[in-house]
Amino acid sequence: MSSMTICARFRPLSSKERRDHGDTVCIRCIDAETFLFKDEKDEEFTFSFDKVFYEKSEQAQVYEFLAWPIVKDAVDAINGTIITYGQTGAGKTYSMEGPSILVCDEQKRGLLPRVVEGLFDCIKSSGGTMKHSIKLSMVEIYMEKVRDLFDLSKDNIQIKESKSQGILLNGVTEISVSDPAEALQSLSSGIANRAVGETQMNMASSRSHCIYIFTVHQEVKRDDRLKTGKLILVDLAGSEKVEKTGAEGKVLEEAKTINKSLSVLGNVINALTCGSPGKVNHIPFRDSKLTRILQDSLGGNSRTALLCCCSPSPSNALESLSTLRFGMRAKHIKMSPRVKCNEDKCAKKQGPASSPIKHESCDII
Ligand code: ADP
Ligand code: MG
Repeated sequence: MSSMTICARFRPLSSKERRDHGDTVCIRCIDAETFLFKDEKDEEFTFSFDKVFYEKSEQAQVYEFLAWPIVKDAVDAINGTIITYGQTGAGKTYSMEGPSILVCDEQKRGLLPRVVEGLFDCIKSSGGTMKHSIKLSMVEIYMEKVRDLFDLSKDNIQIKESKSQGILLNGVTEISVSDPAEALQSLSSGIANRAVGETQMNMASSRSHCIYIFTVHQEVKRDDRLKTGKLILVDLAGSEKVEKTGAEGKVLEEAKTINKSLSVLGNVINALTCGSPGKVNHIPFRDSKLTRILQDSLGGNSRTALLCCCSPSPSNALESLSTLRFGMRAKHIKMSPRVKCNEDKCAKKQGPASSPIKHESCDII
């Protein structure tokens, strides 16, 4: 059993924050894992994470620490999930996509284009003993409806659970991609579909959860065995509270829905971390679409990383504190990732143990 990897990331001060508070920040770095945080009443808190990325941290450092180990495992059929959490404007999308996934400075490229390249690099270096294929899906959860960003006519995708494959999005578009350029082109079209909604739906990008799903099939040529790893990237909707945004009407409804799904995410994390040993604890995965989709990720069958994105400004101290506390709670979730494989093929081909990772649907490794 391992814990989730939890990191905090502070973006540089925005020009508005500089205008309001000059260069003042509410954090003091102690080391790469620990910092002091001062709230609006000047009370100090010490936080420790697996890694803290301060304002000068590079996108590449975030990728190397947080995402690369998960990418390598996904190619070996171990599920992985990477989540960005935080208030609107805290740097979730910047961390996930960078300024653009197609054209931007190498230095500024976000996790998504790096993950795509990492996946294809891993496949290339696995040599000719295995045949890999990658499929992509991209959905958005808006007002508790799952919309297919590759096919906007599918605007209410249902979530199903299969014994061998876990949580599935029924009928979601899956695009087969054979190289990074093709994958990035597809992702960019999905992102554009999200952006179209942005004007219609009042900043949809911060009012919806965006979920990128990479399904990596691995066929071992020698014995025809088929294994599948699912890598899910989640750019969550903003976690700010309704009262602070002064929302009304439709925006208020959106904010309430977001708050509900994020609070269900918090409840799921609480239930996963507060259970007493030996006692079966009810985990409320079904209380929101987000937690249902993330059930395999949070419930244990995944390597999961959470990036808690924060502003370093005293003007956002309350929201940053809430984000950091959310991350601290998640730290206590224990994960036990397992290799998934196609049951029919595995049943025929049982082999000797070669990995300490528990096999989910049959006992071949
Ligand atoms: P969110 O997705 O959390 O709402 P964004 O990622 O859109 O927030 O970031 C808000 C603004 O801050 C954007 O203009 C973005 O370019 C900038 N920003 C965020 N993080 C960083 C960073 N690490 N370095 C430089 N600029 C950043
Ligand atoms: Mg965003």
